[in-house]
Amino acid sequence: MDTTSLWQGTAARTACLPTLQTDIVIDVAIVGGGITGLTTAMRLLEGGMRVAIVEAGRVGGGSSGHSTGNLYATLDGGLHALARMRGGDTARAVVAGRNAAIDLIEATVARHGLACGFRRVPWHLIAADASHVGIIEAEHAAAVDAGLPASLVDGAGIGLNPAVELEQALRIHGQAQFQPLDYLRQLLLRIAGADCLVFENTRVLAVDDAAGVVRTEQGSVTARHIVLATHTPVGIHLVQSQLEVVREYAIAAPLHDSVPEPGVYWSLGRDRYSLRSFTEHGRPCLVVVGSAHPAGAEAVGEERFRHLDEYARDRFPIGPVEYRWSAQRYRSKDGLPFIGRNVDAARAWIATGFSGDGLVYGTLAGMLVADGILERANPWHALYDPARLAAGKRPDGFERERTEPAEPDSPPPLDAPRQAALADLPPCRSRKLEVDGHPVAVYRREDGVLLAVAGKCTHMGCDLNWNDAETSWDCPCHGSRFGPDGRVLEGPALVPLGRA
Ligand SMILES: Cc1cc2nc3c(=O)[nH]c(=O)nc-3n(C[C@H](O)[C@H](O)[C@H](O)COP(=O)(O)OP(=O)(O)OC[C@H]3O[C@@H](n4cnc5c(N)ncnc54)[C@H](O)[C@@H]3O)c2cc1C
Repeated sequence: MDTTSLWQGTAARTACLPTLQTDIVIDVAIVGGGITGLTTAMRLLEGGMRVAIVEAGRVGGGSSGHSTGNLYATLDGGLHALARMRGGDTARAVVAGRNAAIDLIEATVARHGLACGFRRVPWHLIAADASHVGIIEAEHAAAVDAGLPASLVDGAGIGLNPAVELEQALRIHGQAQFQPLDYLRQLLLRIAGADCLVFENTRVLAVDDAAGVVRTEQGSVTARHIVLATHTPVGIHLVQSQLEVVREYAIAAPLHDSVPEPGVYWSLGRDRYSLRSFTEHGRPCLVVVGSAHPAGAEAVGEERFRHLDEYARDRFPIGPVEYRWSAQRYRSKDGLPFIGRNVDAARAWIATGFSGDGLVYGTLAGMLVADGILERANPWHALYDPARLAAGKRPDGFERERTEPAEPDSPPPLDAPRQAALADLPPCRSRKLEVDGHPVAVYRREDGVLLAVAGKCTHMGCDLNWNDAETSWDCPCHGSRFGPDGRVLEGPALVPLGRA
């Protein structure tokens, strides 16, 4: 299945930047070229530092380029839920920081003339049935308390009406939307240069925090500071014991008429959906995001895409789905991201736990981490400081931070009788086996070739499950993902799966 995102399919094309092929020394090494990495780089450059961004794929190719492109001060888990858990002062501080991050994006777009469709739009939370009206009212009270321009509206005032069921809705004015990949790629063109070296298609294989060295296949970066802007930090880190990993799905289909008014629309009902429109060269389309589940659940992706398609088609005059994609989010158990110097680290900074709000939190993280490195005060530093992790006892497996790779498990090769026993495995299908006590994950390619790899994650040894939508082996524990040939695709794992 082609899982190119709408943003990848419609972004202005830019040339690939070179891979790292030598050893370099610089002020700050930034691992990961998503919105967190690029914003950190931009702020450090403005502060007079020299930086190197090392990105495993293309800049923006991670969750940032697979998001919905919505920018809002509130939270997907609910501002009222945060206020209940952490108090009104925390909710107000979170909103202030997130507002500042959206303002920074707007100022960056204006300053560099980035053609990324940024515009201010209203954000809506919609109760699809009466049972969710209480949430809308609680969210309204929390939003007003945090100083947001929020109001309760009925169906007639909502740009999605009458397609989507609606009991009551909350509207917050002055939020925003953009094409996230155009934003990142154009920002990259503006900041890349002698003081901001950027390496694409360069995977970091190990990080030596004490020595300040980031190693890749053909070169290394030595730096005073290392920013792990990899969505969840690569390697084994205490913070991962405090994150839940969720996978979520998105589709985009052309709209024939009745285009919703520009805005962010979140619908609460039996299931949750996020809707927005996007227009490219005068051709409008509808984007629907939802059907989330804990990451690493076995082979449910195709069904989730079907579900989104049915939901959209029942309500809107759409054509055939043109883009379908999915992405991961990391939800912090205590309701707040972890942004700042990593616990017990000499040089490593982390930024994770953004949940579905990370285009804004990632931007805020860039501001916070850069201020930390530049030794500037930041009003939100304490709120997100990973130091709060150090208070508890370290759970099993997280006794110490580790960013150097462990030896991968190498299962024995599949012998002829075992290959014969797999003769009934059709093309594009997978199976899990045990070979001499080793779990083995097998996939038959479309051309009939069998690919067999170790069935345990190289991060912390959890059993992998097949992801039928993305054709990958996914880990339910901490979000690592691997291709059928064993290469690392995403998540904290540093080492590929051993081939059988
Ligand atoms: C379906 C969905 C929709 C969403 N929609 C929104 C939205 O509308 N608004 C919002 O605010 N948030 C949204 N989010 C959340 C948001 O997309 C993320 O939180 C945000 O993009 C994270 O940015 P990042 O830069 O930290 O990570 P990423 O964008 O994932 O960037 C991390 C980068 O690190 C690279 N990397 C990883 N490992 C290595 C390595 N070993 N070596 C080198 N590079 C490496 C990756 O290739 C990647 O490019 C959504 C999330 C999902 C799942």
